[in-house]
Amino acid sequence: MKYISTRGQTAHKPFSEVLLMGLAPDGGLMLPESYPQISPETLQQWRGLSYPELAFEIMSLFVTDIPSEDLRDILNRTYTEAAFGTAEITPVRTLSDGIKIQALSNGPTLAFKDMAMQFLGNAFEYVLAKEGKQLNILGATSGDTGSAAEYALRGKKGVHVFMLSPEGKMSAFQRAQMYSLQDENIHNIAVHGMFDDCQDIVKAVQNDAAFKEKYHIGTVNSINWGRIVAQVVYYFAGYFNTTQSNEQKVSFCVPSGNFGNVCAGHIARQMGLPIHRLIVATNENDVLDEFFKTGEYRPRTAEHTHVTSSPSMDISKASNFERFIFDLTDRDASQIQALWAEVGTGKGFDLNWLLSKVRNQYGFVSGKSLHQDRLRVIAEVYQTDGQLVDPHTADGIKVAREVREAGELIVCLETALAAKFEDTVYEAVGKVDIPRPAGLEGLESLPQRVQVVPNNAEVVKEIIRETLEK
Ligand SMILES: *Cc1c(COP(=O)(O)O)cnc(C)c1O
Repeated sequence: MKYISTRGQTAHKPFSEVLLMGLAPDGGLMLPESYPQISPETLQQWRGLSYPELAFEIMSLFVTDIPSEDLRDILNRTYTEAAFGTAEITPVRTLSDGIKIQALSNGPTLAFKDMAMQFLGNAFEYVLAKEGKQLNILGATSGDTGSAAEYALRGKKGVHVFMLSPEGKMSAFQRAQMYSLQDENIHNIAVHGMFDDCQDIVKAVQNDAAFKEKYHIGTVNSINWGRIVAQVVYYFAGYFNTTQSNEQKVSFCVPSGNFGNVCAGHIARQMGLPIHRLIVATNENDVLDEFFKTGEYRPRTAEHTHVTSSPSMDISKASNFERFIFDLTDRDASQIQALWAEVGTGKGFDLNWLLSKVRNQYGFVSGKSLHQDRLRVIAEVYQTDGQLVDPHTADGIKVAREVREAGELIVCLETALAAKFEDTVYEAVGKVDIPRPAGLEGLESLPQRVQVVPNNAEVVKEIIRETLEK
């Protein structure tokens, strides 16, 4: 299996190389040359496999340049009961209205990004050791991505993580989660400024080609193909968990921001998994809902992005969206170049004549959920089912209820635990006890390790230099 770029100007590459890449050199995103097709017989054989076994069967179709036994070992070490709380890894439960909830949020940082990032940590370590390489991750986070990356890469050989966060802007829980890590290869840097300032520093360092090369600077952002492929697995797991036979179809409802999660669902569907519809749920930042309703894609600037109570979806330029549009245009790289040239000038594009294909051939629908909607859903689910769901999952449930057809089996992906977003949960249901996974009880009182710096890329470069030259 080789990988190609959505912009068509990059040589075909094997998985191990794509794993360590961010954007392709031509500015595009990497995708497999074609999607492996799963026959009904194979699907039947996969029913009943354990999560790591299923992950091996699916991922070995995409990862053909790592020996099978090594890939199996990486996956067995990744998807463990110790890391994800249950041997099932992504257990499914049913609400009293029949909607299913698939828990993707039982990993170390209580958000679905662990599902892929834990794999990425082990895969990076394996590939770097094999090739005798080093990688220094420089990232910016407003919460979930940074902590998921740090917990995935802590203590890994050949890797350092330099993670920028806006000083004082994350929740106490999120700060404690990241800053309490004492591993020597994890470096928390709090910047006097906003998340966008952190991101600008990352860009400034990336743009210094000499520095980037000398210090082997890389990223783990959500366009990384290794993350998408790991996410394909739980769509299969969720399907097997909620059906008895392959005659049945399931729809997935996905709280979305960068389109990474639902992009994996799209790929599972293209492989032949019997998915009826892919339901994209957004919050107040509704660029994706607008596209799936009208065919117009109009990314907003940072000033026009709302700060909401489901903050991990506060995204107005969905970085993985290009992967879907590539498939939608029958993989026409020159059309992608033209469309993203429009995005680059801030205009966006209109594909309204393809809307029926988006719905009928690709199964996409969408909806959006606002602050009052998510508060109401959190309160309703608490009353009817005695469970607390987090604000992002609540957005998904709201939209699933709204678009559900008679008899449709909908699995809502649970993308975080309520414990991570206490303030909004309290606002919805009052000051109740929010369950926390074992081991996280006294998190906020642990000693923290973080350097506070001015909003200045040179200062960050100096920290990287000093650390790596020690
Ligand atoms: C990242 C994240 C999302 C959005 O996922 P995308 O892959 O960016 O669409 C939704 N919910 C939570 C809790 C997240 O951390």
